[in-house]
Amino acid sequence: MMTPATAVGTQPPADLSMNETPYPPLPGIRRVVEGAAATLQRYPDRTSSALVAALSARLGVGPEAILVGPGSAGLCQHLVQSLGPRPDVVHPALSFEGYPLIIGNAGARAVPVPMDGYDHDLPAMADAVTDRTRCVLLCNPNNPTGTALRRDDVEAFLERIPADVPVIVDEAYREFVTDPRSPDGMDLYRAYDNVCVLRTFSKAYGLAALRVGYAVVPPRLTRAAALTGAVFFPSALAQAAAVASLTPEVGAELTRRCTELVAARTGLIGALRGLGLTVAPSEANFVWLPLGERAVPFAERAREAGILVMALPGAGVRITVGAPEANERLCAFVRAALADGL
Ligand code: PMP
Repeated sequence: MMTPATAVGTQPPADLSMNETPYPPLPGIRRVVEGAAATLQRYPDRTSSALVAALSARLGVGPEAILVGPGSAGLCQHLVQSLGPRPDVVHPALSFEGYPLIIGNAGARAVPVPMDGYDHDLPAMADAVTDRTRCVLLCNPNNPTGTALRRDDVEAFLERIPADVPVIVDEAYREFVTDPRSPDGMDLYRAYDNVCVLRTFSKAYGLAALRVGYAVVPPRLTRAAALTGAVFFPSALAQAAAVASLTPEVGAELTRRCTELVAARTGLIGALRGLGLTVAPSEANFVWLPLGERAVPFAERAREAGILVMALPGAGVRITVGAPEANERLCAFVRAALADGL
């Protein structure tokens, strides 16, 4: 289990452990959330109708294919639960630390398939699918390694998966992908009858505090999932902020921010490699250092230097691409730590 280091000292820490965006909310979004606060005594729209309509228009799929939920993690759990009763959920490992928990909470059994280096081992994942398989989880780009799947590989994988086994493509970091060889989950959704796409407003959209995510799901599967999650729907503030985030004006600013963040990612990877560290290629808003046994000491030393990163003991360290000052602080720390023999 990944454990974020905790902060000590007087200087506010640079928190690069949670894959949050470094950007504050846009003024227009803040105004919408403040406006929604005027009716806090009322329950939210349980069908999230305005958000579903906005997503439907944006994605070009009917509202019957869209589910929204309290964060994509919560939604993933409801979806996996609703896809029972087969017991097994095949997932990549090393991947999002939430998957084993989500799978267990959904009453299923996790079938982890080891990675091929930094990447999903898609042929081995296809081999792991049996008549006991409830569904498969893919994470693109993968948390924590940051690598993106290739279209050809995913298509070859999907050709091998029985039509009655749903494949959930978790695209929490989709907006940071620039590699044209990586597939857009929506294209896969249109081409294959068993693909579900999972996305979130927590990362590129910067609404992590509100927790709101969505899934695009073959309509034959949405009813059971909607019933499973029927008592968990996003708050009114979350719905309002998400709807406002889907306007073209906000979209243009969010795209600009993503472009800036991708440039910062390239800069950070270059700087860390320049200092002699091995850094996995990243298509997300974080980078992965496969430090092995040095992962925990690295994170501890970083914490002492006021920088929070996510260490996976024995494997590596995941570092979120932050604001320029935080990235510079990180590089200064790494330079000093390496000079000091870390
Ligand atoms: N999927 C992946 C791969 C993630 O890294 C995360 C958050 N760290 C989530 C899903 C969940 O995000 P949320 O529930 O905030 O939408």
